Amino acid sequence: MIAPASLEDRFAGCLLGLALGDACGAPYEGGPLERALWALLRLWTRQPLRWTDDTQMALGLAESLLEGQGFDPGRAAARWAREARWSRGYGSGTWRILSRIRQGEDRRAASKAVFPEGSFGNGAAMRSAPLGLYFHRMPDELARAAAEASAITHAHPLGVEGGVLMARAAALALADFFEPYGFLAALAEGCREAEFLRRLAWARAALERASGPREVREALGSGVKAQESVVTALYCFCRFSGDFDGMLAFIRSLKGDVDTIGAMAGALFGAKNGLGALPAPLLGKLEERARIEGVGRALYAARR
Ligand SMILES: [Mg+2]
Repeated sequence: MIAPASLEDRFAGCLLGLALGDACGAPYEGGPLERALWALLRLWTRQPLRWTDDTQMALGLAESLLEGQGFDPGRAAARWAREARWSRGYGSGTWRILSRIRQGEDRRAASKAVFPEGSFGNGAAMRSAPLGLYFHRMPDELARAAAEASAITHAHPLGVEGGVLMARAAALALADFFEPYGFLAALAEGCREAEFLRRLAWARAALERASGPREVREALGSGVKAQESVVTALYCFCRFSGDFDGMLAFIRSLKGDVDTIGAMAGALFGAKNGLGALPAPLLGKLEERARIEGVGRALYAARR
């Protein structure tokens, strides 16, 4: 049983949960070469729980909200471009868009040049939780900002919907009363993409029979596409909404994009339960834990 947390602790918990899920999932992502490189980076930087692009971009977005006292796509894009480092494991498309923006290209032109139809990767969803926190009392503003923030690098309707869904999920997870079926139903209500709606319906039914990793991987997916990972993360959070370690173990067993599914589910776990519910031994090893907690508390103070 987890004691109720203050709203401020939930803001901090959301960002810390995102970073923890990301950092705990990162060593399990990719093939043997990527895993070996990641293990070397952790040793070299002496960061046993080193986070990836998911946390880098979520923190950048949160800090751009604080800096500008609101959401501005140009400011967010400039910050993401400035802070991108290859050693955080960026996806190649996002990396190319951010490089073009860094060289002075307009963000819309950069996105079009790399993905003429827009990307439907989960790179928008992985970083959008801070918008859910900041605008949690303003659902229309939240959806508008999340769509704009998503489109900077993931302009395909499915990439955008993934980002909007995750931001809305973070806002809903802050509510005092949490009930997983109602949570998934509320998310489906505001969603128009059939790929997501079908999976949200499947996830609701699967919760009742406590579907295991194999069934979840086959029905919902666990890859880098938004439509094959966002609802997966929602399911993992709903299934293990009071058990962070159990949730991480389940996500690892899904294989695929483990760090991003971990980041998305971790953010929701932290938003619902607060930072006090996150495992202390893991938090103690998390890279830049104090900075992340500080950004979460600042976001609470600045929330709309
Ligand atoms: Mg990553």
